[in-house]
Amino acid sequence: MPSPCVVCGAAGAVAEEATVPSNVRAHKHERFAVWRCAACRSIHARDEVDLDHYYRDYPFLRAQDGRVLRYFHRRLWRRLARAGARRDHAVLDYGCGGGLLLAELARLGVAGVAGYDAYSARYADPRVLEASYDVVVSQDVIEHVADPLALLDTFGRLCRPGGLIAIGTPDASGIDLARADAHKHSLHQPYHRHILAHPALLAAGAARGWQLVRHHRRPYTSTPVPTLNLPYLLRYLRAGDDTVDVAYDPPRASWRMVTPAALFDAVFGALRDPGTDGMAIFRKPPAALPPYGSIHAALSV
Ligand SMILES: [Zn+2]
Repeated sequence: MPSPCVVCGAAGAVAEEATVPSNVRAHKHERFAVWRCAACRSIHARDEVDLDHYYRDYPFLRAQDGRVLRYFHRRLWRRLARAGARRDHAVLDYGCGGGLLLAELARLGVAGVAGYDAYSARYADPRVLEASYDVVVSQDVIEHVADPLALLDTFGRLCRPGGLIAIGTPDASGIDLARADAHKHSLHQPYHRHILAHPALLAAGAARGWQLVRHHRRPYTSTPVPTLNLPYLLRYLRAGDDTVDVAYDPPRASWRMVTPAALFDAVFGALRDPGTDGMAIFRKPPAALPPYGSIHAALSV
């Protein structure tokens, strides 16, 4: 019997179950059980595992700065800017990894950038979490933690009144557990502990009094630039051993990337984005006005 859903609290209401292989090369022969909450549609990893073991040699830690990543990060900043972020704002990247987004924001002239990542020696200083920020951005983090609602409360504490909270994360609504193997990169087992269905994420934000500014139904890495979109990336992984490690291996050519269908995806793939990942940007309400009674008292003096 699965535990209660940590996203909505519903007890043991399982809509679907599946097992899926890990998409990390070192563990690709292991399968992991996941289940979907019938109430909020979020997807949960069923079993506890020794995560320290799985995070050893985690392929994403091999991400290097480069032209493509910088372009992706500029797109992420554009999303934040359209929602109201400014260059004179203090921005916190919560779960910043090696700090590559921070470096790009600094290059763009964002004055006050800070990063926190418990797993990065350079950014693990908890004093960063004692300050508050105009913008809290957290990309691909909430699905990794044991208690996603507690993390939302942390974001709420870190964000100044009137500030922005941007959460980029997979969307369980777009993941079909009947075809779990085809969604193994979104499910990313055993690392993704709780994949929120975005309606549940939006509801959790609303329950905290946050106003939804924008909801992007695609990742910022799905772009109109040929080859830089999710369907084409997934083809590239399949042309290798279909693990995420392929993206960090030395680039290699494959006839599978130049078939008519692949070339179609290279150019138009963004139009076929599977809707398995997106971003919600919330605004924390401005500082509360003083209660009406105290205004009345002040005016009547
Ligand atoms: Zn639920």
